Amino acid sequence: MRLNFLIPILLVGTFSSFAQSPYFQQQADYRIDVRLDDQAHVLHGHLNLIYHNNAPEALDTLYFHLWPNAYRNQQTAYAKQARRMGETDFHFAAKEQLGGIDSLSFTADGEAVTWSYHPEHIDIAIIILPQSLPPDAQVEINTPFRVDLPYIFSRLGHVNQSYSITQWYPKPAVYDNEGWHPMPYLDMGEFYSEFGNYEVSITLPENYQVGATGTLQNETERQRLLALSRQPLPEEANGAFPPSAKAFKTLMYSAKNVHDFAWFADKRFQVRHDTATLPSGKTVEAWAFFAAEDQDYWDKGAFYVKRALEFYSEKVGEYPYPQATAVQTTLGAGGGMEYPMVTNIGGVSSAESLDIVITHEVGHNWFYGILASNERDHAWMDEGLNSYYEARYAQTYYADSEGDGAIDYLLRSTPMNEREFGYLFQARRNLHQAPETNSNAFKPINYLVSAYILPPLALDLLEGYVGTQALDSAMHAYYQKWQFRHPQPGDLQQSLEEALEQELDWLFEGLIESKGHIDYAITKVENQSQSYRVEVANRGTIESPVALSIVKSDSVLATVWSKGFSGKRTLRIEKAAGDLLVLDAERHAPELYRRNNSYRLEGPLKWIRRPDFTFLPAATNDTRGNLLWSPVLGWNNYDKLMAGMFLGNHTLPEQRLEWRAAPMYGFGSGKLAGLGALHYNIYPGKNDVLHRIRLGITGQRFDAQVANLLNREEQLGYERLQPYLRFDFMPNPTDNTYARLQLRGIWVRSEFLELHGGLEPPIQNYQTQWLQEARFTYEQRRKINPYQWTAALEHQAFDGVFGDPERYVKASFEIDWNFNYSKREAVHLRLFGGYFLYSTFRDAQVVSPVAFNLSSNGGNDYRFDDLYLGRNETEGIWSQQISRRDGGFKVPLLNTFGLGRSNSFMLAVNFKADLPSQAMLGIPLKPYLDIGYFDDNTTIGDGPTFSDQFMWNGGLMLELFDERLAVYFPLISSKNIADQLEIRGNYFTRIGFQLDLQRMNPWKLLDRQEL
Ligand SMILES: [Zn+2]
Repeated sequence: MRLNFLIPILLVGTFSSFAQSPYFQQQADYRIDVRLDDQAHVLHGHLNLIYHNNAPEALDTLYFHLWPNAYRNQQTAYAKQARRMGETDFHFAAKEQLGGIDSLSFTADGEAVTWSYHPEHIDIAIIILPQSLPPDAQVEINTPFRVDLPYIFSRLGHVNQSYSITQWYPKPAVYDNEGWHPMPYLDMGEFYSEFGNYEVSITLPENYQVGATGTLQNETERQRLLALSRQPLPEEANGAFPPSAKAFKTLMYSAKNVHDFAWFADKRFQVRHDTATLPSGKTVEAWAFFAAEDQDYWDKGAFYVKRALEFYSEKVGEYPYPQATAVQTTLGAGGGMEYPMVTNIGGVSSAESLDIVITHEVGHNWFYGILASNERDHAWMDEGLNSYYEARYAQTYYADSEGDGAIDYLLRSTPMNEREFGYLFQARRNLHQAPETNSNAFKPINYLVSAYILPPLALDLLEGYVGTQALDSAMHAYYQKWQFRHPQPGDLQQSLEEALEQELDWLFEGLIESKGHIDYAITKVENQSQSYRVEVANRGTIESPVALSIVKSDSVLATVWSKGFSGKRTLRIEKAAGDLLVLDAERHAPELYRRNNSYRLEGPLKWIRRPDFTFLPAATNDTRGNLLWSPVLGWNNYDKLMAGMFLGNHTLPEQRLEWRAAPMYGFGSGKLAGLGALHYNIYPGKNDVLHRIRLGITGQRFDAQVANLLNREEQLGYERLQPYLRFDFMPNPTDNTYARLQLRGIWVRSEFLELHGGLEPPIQNYQTQWLQEARFTYEQRRKINPYQWTAALEHQAFDGVFGDPERYVKASFEIDWNFNYSKREAVHLRLFGGYFLYSTFRDAQVVSPVAFNLSSNGGNDYRFDDLYLGRNETEGIWSQQISRRDGGFKVPLLNTFGLGRSNSFMLAVNFKADLPSQAMLGIPLKPYLDIGYFDDNTTIGDGPTFSDQFMWNGGLMLELFDERLAVYFPLISSKNIADQLEIRGNYFTRIGFQLDLQRMNPWKLLDRQEL
């Protein structure tokens, strides 16, 4: 399968071919007769299987895969995995879109057998043989079967009358020297099957074209397809399905020595044909079948198949089958999917991308088809090796091609390519997983990185070290030895080690079996008369080969290779007229950090290279570092328009020290305003609990109010510094959960006006506060029914209004649930509880500035956590900006009245519901309801009644940009709220809005671990 780039443990850790019983493999020969009912979307089939037991022991039981049952219901392994991957289509599939296999009635050598479903997996059957099957004997299994084709969610199914018939018939699991390998169907996680011969007859309406595994045996049909291949493309592509012919035809296919059979049928298919000539002179037919979409690209489809066949035959070993076919289909799994001799391809964006996907899938005939490794347990063996050759194909035919995607724009600032970026994106953050991991234990992005990206990078390094020819001939030797067999990782290692006459533990144990990383550094250079003596330190965990080069303005003048080592080693390189000594100048190695890889031969700054000054957005330049810039504009009601410059180095992939600053000039205030952040990332590495420790500080300064006292009007501001220590816990790659503990201090210096005796004008003074907080957050970020909770403790000692010392410890807890009732729509419920564990002002008669608030706004944001357009406004539109903190009431209450504010404790429930978007014509209007209780201790005399302290408020909200902007239209409320809103003014003054400027900060996104 090929994954499109834009888009957590069960470790099968040990390489297994050593210390096993001797190698053997079973043989499974099939005769399948199948008829397609294209009105009911059903297959009626009969399976006849001759199963040869080549194991040294007798078998009493056979495990069979019934993979169409993956689509039977929402409890299958496939359905569970799709949910965890955030694919919600199948979860919310209509009943008629589901599928399955039934009408089974197994016999063994003509005798009825007892069989049952696997206790956990409805798509695995366990067949008890009437007689045990001795070594070197065979048993004939027969069964009718009926497949109710699902809508295409993954690989099997149909979209209207376009059919992808894959993983469709009852099929034995592999039995090898490790035992049985039954595996439920998965989308992310491929297959492992027995070799055999297939005779398949397919009956369907006459006007279908079929692309399939095997060689077509009907000469008239073959001539019909050849005639179609000579037809020009229609002027206007037409995606409509013609009516099905009344007459049926039966197509016969024969395939030798393959381990699967797939076919694709569509009445709209156009056909192209070509012929590949292999190194031995043997010719192979190349076919392309495609419908209307992308027809201009597909016109050359057969040529791409031919060229891929020739390329892989030369680089790896000769293609053994008579034909290869590429078919365009709707595909739910990745960009393309491989089957023996046939592959299906989804939508593409260019001729080049079609060529690359076809080449990748055709290439799987080698790495999957012929070298039939266990893809589920060792996905890197097929995807990794195949992606390595795919990259070499791209290098051969598209070396000068300039990418045009967003990722290419991001990479313009760095010599990194897309693969290195992908690997470093995860590995720099220590979030990658070892390639040798069961497919279902991967986080999806890590499946991409570990199966498709890291193994080719590892092979690039091996190729650089041993040379292309030596690697190709070693791969030929592996192909010769293991073709039509089931190689294990140890078999590949042994083949390569024998052919290359060197041990490759650095590659197999270092890069594949573990989360090891490569990082060499130049630590000392001695200038001698004829040469440089260069001390190189290994700061990584892998002893991989390393290249030392002399470089002059990006061209490599001389290179010496050293085998891997630990600690330090001195390498010698003959002098040449270059400017730099560089480790791995040609970027063969997946190095974690490269900025310690170079040394300047001229000038005073031997260790430093001038960073690239790059316009945002751009990726990290991993060799030189970069200084990112962009103009920046801001506005608030006091500074008014602000303009300045963003500067920073904070981008992707992550670096250890990251910073960013946006200083601005406020045209209204005439003062400097802005924000900045700096942090250092520490990765505890082997630690399984902690993923990252981040030590950082943020700062900001803005004007925040216009104060007016004794006719003196002054615009006043605040400065805020927030040092913090954040512990990110290691996320479980398979369950989308994230946890972190943050310890922070907040120092705020805010200006105010005070009277200064008599009638003298008031003077400007300032007050400072320093508070400390510990906050733990747990998030379950699954797509369906996600939730998160936060618990926090805060302490502060400060001077009260009359200068008396005050102190408190407040605790709060908040939980947010989403209950999805459809793919996009959910009901949201939030609970908040807050309590002062200790305070000197619990029974004070004024509301403390640090009180809990049912409605949060700029005036009560004493931590200065949020950004407000008019922080201290008490009237006008800016006074209506509210935040989600504390009680989360969606109504703009003024602080001055003390309503909904407590020096003691508070409870709140917030509810909102997405309405079905169709019913709402796409307008994101949702009902909301907030209910809260605040303990009001400030009233003198008779205490307040329950209804004085109980509040509720409901209305309709308009929520835009993923909750970043929301407008709240109040409709109903408790009397205490209604009374206060009455004081505010007309209806428009009662509308609240939320503008989550913090969530709009793109750097906050960079901190999201899931990225
Ligand atoms: Zn693939």
